[in-house]
Amino acid sequence: MSAKTHVAVDPGRCRAYGLCVTIHPDVFSVPAGSSTVQLLREAVDAPDLEDVEEAARACPARAITLRTPETP
Ligand code: SF4
Repeated sequence: MSAKTHVAVDPGRCRAYGLCVTIHPDVFSVPAGSSTVQLLREAVDAPDLEDVEEAARACPARAITLRTPETP
């Protein structure tokens, strides 16, 4: 079983604070000069889920949303 969790960032909310990058730099990136975060991966498996959930909770702009396609 490997239902991936879909990660999305609302560019209208993101202020490029970069907290998510600090928590999971393999998924989130703020390129130099960018005003919004860039997703390096749009879906994550269980090993990354905890950090991605922490990033979503830590985001001051509430810009990160997570969606699991199938919830058992
Ligand atoms: S923590 Fe939120 S506001 Fe900051 S870069 Fe990440 S998504 Fe954007």
